Amino acid sequence: MRVRRFAPIPRLTIVTFHHIADQGGRYQYDPDVADATPAQFRRQMETLARHCTVITMDDCVRAVEGAPLPQNPVLVTFDDGYRSCHDTALPVLKSVGIPATFFIATSYITERRLYWWERIALVLSRTKVARTTIMFPDVLEIVPHDPIMRRKLTDLIKFTPALDIERFLVELTEKLEVEWSPAIEAEAADGLIMKWDHIRTLAREGMDIESHTRRHRVLQTLDAAALRDELSGSRLDLEAQIGRPVRAVAYPVGRAISEVPRIRAAVQEAGYRIGLSNGSGVNTLWPAQLRSVLPIDRFDIRRLSTDRSMSDAMFLTSVAIPSLAY
Ligand SMILES: [Zn+2]
Repeated sequence: MRVRRFAPIPRLTIVTFHHIADQGGRYQYDPDVADATPAQFRRQMETLARHCTVITMDDCVRAVEGAPLPQNPVLVTFDDGYRSCHDTALPVLKSVGIPATFFIATSYITERRLYWWERIALVLSRTKVARTTIMFPDVLEIVPHDPIMRRKLTDLIKFTPALDIERFLVELTEKLEVEWSPAIEAEAADGLIMKWDHIRTLAREGMDIESHTRRHRVLQTLDAAALRDELSGSRLDLEAQIGRPVRAVAYPVGRAISEVPRIRAAVQEAGYRIGLSNGSGVNTLWPAQLRSVLPIDRFDIRRLSTDRSMSDAMFLTSVAIPSLAY
């Protein structure tokens, strides 16, 4: 028997981005959603190319199912479907020569609607109303210039079970007296969110396209029928538009589902092979022969979040160094 070298801890780091932008002073959308400026993103990708093996979603799914990982593996992912994925990230990824996976909330792409958190940010920044009160889902005083207001309103969507989000957003927009129509919304969406042609271009350029549900609802707030529509529906939307099998779903807002058996069952029934949370850490994927004692939960694959305030050294430490440690 061949003497084997000491086997290192097989650790997979998955890093999450959303939007790559400079966001100057007049930016009307969610100011927290850009994880990196274009220059910062380029430096980060060059760092990964230098220090790590950037893997594809195929490699990731195979590793979760027991295949060995290459040295220092990192998977680069993007959530939501921001237009900057196509306009800004794709040219950088191509020039540095690394693949990435894009998780798409499919209804927004088809319907040319603004993501719910971006509609909240936009009406709060456009309103001239200093103070008002909404009645749905509960009585809530709205003070648009209060710095915690945006967070209060997005939390309401994240935590209220079975919320009629449209009814809530319509009342908010009306009470804030912000002019709104399908044409106004579509124009905003066109500036901020990819179209199917952009996503097909990503796929043609070797990028991987996977699911981020249909309407970006927090899975924990949904009943069985809504779960089925969000999970299966999104997979069918993607397969019809891109023509490739969809294997993975990234949970909207990133909250893990491992403690919620009915959601796990719904993810599995919808045909996904893996599910990813966010802000949740790195993964230890032991070889297949050790999985019976050191199992991996395929529906609790963890990711690291990034943000613009990270220095290049911090990015390297959080993403590359844990995998360089062996
Ligand atoms: Zn998202």
